[in-house]
Amino acid sequence: MHRITQRASKIPSFIVMDVLERAHTLERKGRHIIHLEVGEPDFPTPPCICEAAIEAIRRERTHYTHSLGLIELREAICEHYLEKYGVRINPDQIIVTSGTSPALFILFSTLLEQGDEIILSNPHYPCYPNFASFLDAVPAFVNVYEEDGFQFRPEEIKSRINSRTKAILINSPSNPTGNLLSPERMEKIAGLGPHVISDEIYHGLVYGEKEHSILEFTDNAFVLNGFSKLYAMTGWRIGYIISPLEFVRPMQKIQQNFFISAGSIPQWAAVAALNSAGKDVEQMRSIYDERRIYMIKRLCDMGFGLTVEPKGAFYVLVNAKHISSDSYGLAFEILEKAGVGVTPGIDFGRNAEGYLRFSYANSIDNIRLGLDRIESFLNDW
Ligand code: PMP
Repeated sequence: MHRITQRASKIPSFIVMDVLERAHTLERKGRHIIHLEVGEPDFPTPPCICEAAIEAIRRERTHYTHSLGLIELREAICEHYLEKYGVRINPDQIIVTSGTSPALFILFSTLLEQGDEIILSNPHYPCYPNFASFLDAVPAFVNVYEEDGFQFRPEEIKSRINSRTKAILINSPSNPTGNLLSPERMEKIAGLGPHVISDEIYHGLVYGEKEHSILEFTDNAFVLNGFSKLYAMTGWRIGYIISPLEFVRPMQKIQQNFFISAGSIPQWAAVAALNSAGKDVEQMRSIYDERRIYMIKRLCDMGFGLTVEPKGAFYVLVNAKHISSDSYGLAFEILEKAGVGVTPGIDFGRNAEGYLRFSYANSIDNIRLGLDRIESFLNDW
C-alpha cells in the first residue's frame, strides 16, 4: 500500500488555480470566459529577449551553468541594483534560480528550523505560508488593513516578534493588494532585528510611485526577485536571490542538490532582459497603467470598496462585503453566472475574506467586457 506523506497531503491548493481550472472546464463546454483572476502578463516576451535565447541555442550554450548562475547574469543584476537603487552588491551574493518560487524554497529552507516563525502580512501571497508550513516552520500573521493601504504597521510587527522569529517577509508592490510599502515603514521594519526578506518581483511595475529595495535600508536582508512579471517571462522560469555572503554557500548546496543550476537558455535571455528590454518594459508598463486607471474607476462606480489607490503590480483588491462575506462562493458565482474569473480574497488569508482580487493583466477590451458582465450580474443580484 502506497502511503502519501502528511507533508504532501496537507499542502493547500492554490485557490486561484481552482478558479482557473473550473474556468477551463467551462471553456471546454463552449462558454466564453474573461480571465481577470490570473497573475500573469498577457504580453508576449519582448523580441530582444527571445532573440537572445535563440542565439544561445545556436551557440550551443545549452549545458549546466555554474550553480550560482552565469557570471554575466549576476554582473548584470549587480549593475541593475546599483543603477536603480544605488546599492552595491557583489556577484558572489547572488544565486540565480529557476524562478522566484524555487528561490523562496531555497531561502526558507536555509533560514527556518522546525518551529521557527516567519512574520507574514495577512493578506499575503498564498504560497508564503505554504512554503513555511511545508518546512515545519510557523507562519506568524500580522494583519494589514484596507484603510492603511494594506501596509504593514511596524509597531504591530514588533509586538509579534519573539525568540522564534527568524524573518519578516515584505512584498512591495504587493500581490494581492497592488500597494507599496512606504520607505519610512521599510526603514523601521529593517531596524526591528530579524532578517527581512523582500520579495521584489513586482518592482518596475509602478505607476507614479517609486519602489524601494530593502537593500537601501539594511544589509541584513534577502532579496527575492525574478523575470516573470516585469519582462513577461512566466514560462521561462528564472529568478534570483540576493543574500548576505555568509548564507550563500548553504543555499548554493541546496541549489546543487535540488536543481543543479537554473536553465542556461533562460539565463542568457535574462541577461538580454536586463541589458536591452528597457523600451519594451516601459511600453508594457504604460499599457498596464491605462488599464489600471480604467479598472479602478469602473470597480468604484460599481460600488466595490477601495480606500487607497493601488499603484503597483497589476492587481486591485476590492472590498465586496456589501455583496457577500463568502468570497469563495462569490467568485464561483461570478464565474458560473457572469463568465468572469476573479480571485476570492480568502486565497490570500483570513483577513482578505470578503474581498475580491482583480488582475489587469488582460486587454482593456477584455477588462471592459468582463466588468460589463459583472455589472449586469450584480444588477440582478
Ligand atoms: N512572489 C509573488 C508575490 C508572486 O506573485 C509570484 C507569482 N505569482 C511569485 C513570487 C513567483 O513567481 P515566479 O516563480 O514565476 O518567479
